[in-house]
Amino acid sequence: MNIVRFAYRGLVATGVLDGEDVYRLDGDVFREWQRGTHVAPLSEVQLLAPVQPSKIVCVGRNYAAHAAEHNAEVPKEPLLFLKPPSAVIGTGEVIRLPRLSRHVEHEAELAVVIGRRCRHVRPDESAWDVVLGYTCANDVTARDLQFSDGQWTRAKGFDTFCPLGPWIVTDVDPRAVDVIARVNGEVRQHGNTRDMVFAIPHLIAAVTAVMTLEPGDVLLTGTPAGVGPLVPGDVVEIEVEGVGVLCNSVRAEADVPGD
Ligand code: MG
Repeated sequence: MNIVRFAYRGLVATGVLDGEDVYRLDGDVFREWQRGTHVAPLSEVQLLAPVQPSKIVCVGRNYAAHAAEHNAEVPKEPLLFLKPPSAVIGTGEVIRLPRLSRHVEHEAELAVVIGRRCRHVRPDESAWDVVLGYTCANDVTARDLQFSDGQWTRAKGFDTFCPLGPWIVTDVDPRAVDVIARVNGEVRQHGNTRDMVFAIPHLIAAVTAVMTLEPGDVLLTGTPAGVGPLVPGDVVEIEVEGVGVLCNSVRAEADVPGD
């Protein structure tokens, strides 16, 4: 099942995508729901970020080949950091390159969407029970600030630095799917989730050993090798096999208040 959030003629709602058509989702996507009435063809709705998380928890260096390209060790336990909810945008929205950075990079990632409130989840098969589904993410990073600051809040936290989408897929097995980044149609990253250092149950256990995860919270599972720069005018696509393609254009932050 594919779950969308969309805007259509003034209606902003969660819906169900079936083929090329969007339907209402009646009920609570995290509890009981059923498919409602037809809304419109997919081509006529504006897709929004598929969730509005209370937090986005990320893991660094979860693919050995990516750690190696930064001459960094693979961590002995998951290296966790946060992105703020204000960084989230959906497919089709614009990534704004901030004036504070001279070097912004894409990071293609599989995103896990949490389906139920949880704490102290065990790192075994039971961890899958707290997952609603999966979407694509771009862990956009101001690489220069990441290195100069020594911690990652600014580098990872700018507005528009967490594209998510295009939708949530609930019935894909995420353990061996390709994770791809394309910039202007050229493949820049092409990894597979089977190469994660820490698998998804281990990541969920590590996060929930620290904090409660809420329905709609998002876990970014790390990026494979091949990260690279984004410049104004680029179009960056993040594809996760069996999930979909998240597409965003890139422009410089305008020198005006509010941008
Ligand atoms: Mg990342």
